[in-house]
Amino acid sequence: MKFQDHAEGGVTVITLDNPPLNSLGHVLRSRIVAAIEVAEVDPAVRAIVLTGSPRAFSAGADVSEFGTPRQMAEPILRSVLERIRICTKPVVAALDGVALGGGLELALACHARVALGQARVGLPEITLGLIPGSGGTQRLPRLAGIDLALTLMQGGAPMAAAQLASTSLFDRVVDDGLIEAAADVARQLADAGAPWPHADRLNLDAEYVATKVSLARQRLNARQRLQPAYGALLDAIGASAGPIDAGLALERARFLGLIGTTEAQALRYQFKAERDSHRLPDTLQVEPRKVATVAVIGAGTMGAGIAICALDATLDVILLEQDETALARGRQRIADHYAGRVAAGKLGAAVADAAQARLTGTCDWQALARADVVIEAVFEELSVKQDVFRRLDAVARPGAVLATNTSYLDIDAIAAVTSRPQDVLGLHFFSPAQVMKLLEVIRGAHTSPDAMATAMTLGRTLRKVPVLCGNAFGFIGNRIYNAYRRQCEFMLEDGAWPEEVDQALTDFGFAMGPFAVADLSGLDIAWRMRRAQAATRDPRERHVPVLEQLCEQGRLGQKSGAGYYRYADGKRAQTTDDTVHDLIVQASAARGIQRRTLAPQEIQRRALLAMVNEAACLYADGVATRPSDIDVVLVQGYGFPRWQGGPVFWARQQDRERLGADLRCLVEAGGHGMRLADDTMLARLLD
Ligand code: NAD
Repeated sequence: MKFQDHAEGGVTVITLDNPPLNSLGHVLRSRIVAAIEVAEVDPAVRAIVLTGSPRAFSAGADVSEFGTPRQMAEPILRSVLERIRICTKPVVAALDGVALGGGLELALACHARVALGQARVGLPEITLGLIPGSGGTQRLPRLAGIDLALTLMQGGAPMAAAQLASTSLFDRVVDDGLIEAAADVARQLADAGAPWPHADRLNLDAEYVATKVSLARQRLNARQRLQPAYGALLDAIGASAGPIDAGLALERARFLGLIGTTEAQALRYQFKAERDSHRLPDTLQVEPRKVATVAVIGAGTMGAGIAICALDATLDVILLEQDETALARGRQRIADHYAGRVAAGKLGAAVADAAQARLTGTCDWQALARADVVIEAVFEELSVKQDVFRRLDAVARPGAVLATNTSYLDIDAIAAVTSRPQDVLGLHFFSPAQVMKLLEVIRGAHTSPDAMATAMTLGRTLRKVPVLCGNAFGFIGNRIYNAYRRQCEFMLEDGAWPEEVDQALTDFGFAMGPFAVADLSGLDIAWRMRRAQAATRDPRERHVPVLEQLCEQGRLGQKSGAGYYRYADGKRAQTTDDTVHDLIVQASAARGIQRRTLAPQEIQRRALLAMVNEAACLYADGVATRPSDIDVVLVQGYGFPRWQGGPVFWARQQDRERLGADLRCLVEAGGHGMRLADDTMLARLLD
């Protein structure tokens, strides 16, 4: 903790000093109290400015203290805030960098707040299944109004102080001269004399708060309703119109009630799992190659999205297509994307123009010679991709990383047509590529460590969550999703209807059920793959032919107006129709199955067991580096509810003996060829 006496006017500046982000661990909390007490008794001090570093006023709680006695050791944050409130000299928070969670709560408990416009403030507790626990739910509505408080706390995303300059959250927002401005405010408060202004003395219109909170409660979506923190947050915010002590007590009670929930544990686990996912194993800890220019081959759905990611990351992008018409189409996609963001006020026109100025469109392969990384996103056909890589091999500069965005093809078969398999790897983006965070980074048999390190670093540059994968069919995500979808098809044969399966899984928290997803992405992709596999499929294998039969009738999903469901004006029918029912009943009869009702719990459990079984198998095969990577993939790429942690997290919550027994039953019912994750494999995954 640094002290620095301000020359004029008796203002002392207390600088929080716990790099890198001034997390409010026990030591820092104790020091703040001590510094306030020292300043309070110093007759030369009339007012206090509390500030942090350019990186952070404070990013909030010290996560390493979670679950340890230090977290609850006095002074807890609430006591620090109370000490500031009762200070006999005014305390002004001066904010730069981030003020998040407890960091913002610290500022809210001061007598005034001054911020640099670029400072970012937020109460992101909801993203960890919690609510602010040190007065945030009470003081933010009082200071900034109920509407902004709801936005910040329910959304969890930080906002720039400049965006909040017109609100009463800040006494001043400045572009520079932060400490001078804060000292000025502090001096004015000292001159005006006690009592200093404080959030706790403000009153809100009770009726308005009640109406807003009730509206917010009605507007909670299905996924938010499944998470206890959303209801608890609204309870606490609702109390902000009453006496402060009662509101703080309610907030505390709700906060403590949430800490131990499975949802909060799962969200903390995911947070850590995502941080871990980009850490390379020791063998790959090498210096990455420099990347300034990325080339993308193919400007279709994926290619255009990948190009946008790279442009947003301020990289130069070369976009190559097979002809001028396709190139113009791709360019138009990118232009439309930026125009949309500008129109929605999400991006400045100058930034959008600058991004597009970094884009070069071409049909000339020689133009790829200056790329540091080339990402191929052409049709999903091995021969087409091999042809592309042959041409690429002839023009790419030595040392360029050559990546394929294939969803299923063998990276080694693609690398084999080049003279440099050490530079070839997979970069599996998800659709829409400019939105989805997940990036599977696939290592071929010959990919060099520095090429892998480059790809993982590029993933971070593109603001993705890169996950290292082995080169096996479907990598991590599609392999598990296929097992899950297959199990859901088995459940149709056993007696469930698509809407029952979809409902049970959305009730579990999936964004969509598997049949609604299949209709959305188009059944023809799976149809094509299944026809290719049909020739080699063992006739003893359990296979549900409904999808193929739907496609044969022209029911390709949403785009053709019908798939598992019918779509009138783009809206999905609640239930499936007779055609679908007839096909399913025939499938059951053909397998000699007496149809029965499947309870939602059985549907959920079987779907999850299928994922866990496949996860254990692929982990045993070395496709994933760590079990938590599997959960990151499912949550980030496949709509698995984040607050359920992922299939591995879910499995760890289950009784192990029953889990093993259920997996054996599942695999037995799955018929010939289905691989069982035995107890050893399961233990490797879960212990
Ligand atoms: P798409 O059909 O929308 O685009 C492919 C583009 O590649 C077309 O514009 C085509 O003109 C171009 N192209 C084809 N051959 C070319 C060549 N020789 N040289 C230059 N350009 C060529 O396909 P998409 O959906 O963008 O998929 C591309 C790849 O991404 C596939 O491998 C696919 O499996 C993979 N992928 C797709 C998704 C998805 O959801 N669409 C998700 C992940 C991965």
